[in-house]
Amino acid sequence: MNINGKTALYGIIGNPVGHSLSPVMHNAALKALSINGVYVPMNVESVANAVTGLKELGFNGVSITIPHKETIFDFLDWIDPVAERIGAVNTLLFQKNAEDNLVTTHGFNTDWLGARMALADHVTLKNARALVFGAGGAAKAVAYGLHEAGVKVQVVNRTEDKARELASWLGCGFASYSDLASIQAEILVNTTSVGMVPNIDETVIPPELLGNFEVVMDIVYAPLQTRLLREASQKGCIVIDGLAMLLYQGAAQFEIWTGQRPPLNVMREALEHELLLRENI
Ligand code: NAP
Repeated sequence: MNINGKTALYGIIGNPVGHSLSPVMHNAALKALSINGVYVPMNVESVANAVTGLKELGFNGVSITIPHKETIFDFLDWIDPVAERIGAVNTLLFQKNAEDNLVTTHGFNTDWLGARMALADHVTLKNARALVFGAGGAAKAVAYGLHEAGVKVQVVNRTEDKARELASWLGCGFASYSDLASIQAEILVNTTSVGMVPNIDETVIPPELLGNFEVVMDIVYAPLQTRLLREASQKGCIVIDGLAMLLYQGAAQFEIWTGQRPPLNVMREALEHELLLRENI
């Protein structure tokens, strides 16, 4: 990498951010396309100070992660209508006006697209049925993406009121845990943190019910093979791991920032390689 005065600056702001896989994915993509750019992780407490600093330093674009996806709204000059509907921004694009050098901040959400593209690789979405576990920030983006693609979505969550709220916001279905045995659908998605390290023996659904689904996606990526995916695979389901959504949401960010077609294979390989390294530490 040859960093010089023309190097384009990208990065991720969050707190914590040290665990993020986005730097390896984006730096691999920049390198593969010979773009003079670099992507760095930045631990940020104050979004207000960070946005001022990023603009002043000439950053081109950044990813936003927990806990800033909602608080960033107060510092945007333009918000993509989908991000506004979902209520979360995970991508910033900074644009400089050539006449007055003023920098404006544009906010997007690519999580919904990432989940949708990951599933669309394996199943026809229009008119499919999906059971979505969870009602947090990721659930909102996933349920939105599927609903907009014509999927009949039902949400289920440990705290039922939050699932009811999500269902009423989106205009989709709602289910209780006690309904699970009677639900049949083409798609099951886990958007909760259940099964994530260190609680890798946990799962959202009893294995005997997994035969009611054709495709099972888990957006947890640490570990990559969650208990849910292992058991779904044993039942003969098509399984999609958490890297797929991460990859596609990152690819959509890359396109927003550079205007270029993202090198998906390079990005996926970089993610897999990094996860392997971390598993062996
Ligand atoms: P969040 O807003 O905090 O929501 C967490 C969700 O998990 C809630 O629905 C919560 O239920 C549920 N939950 C947590 N512990 C549970 C338990 N023990 N039993 C049942 N349900 C439980 O978090 P988020 O931002 O949506 O993120 C959720 C997961 O998605 C994280 O693991 C994150 O790393 C992953 N993620 C992956 C990607 C990707 O690209 N692959 C992108 C975004 C997020 P309650 O409402 O009952 O608390």
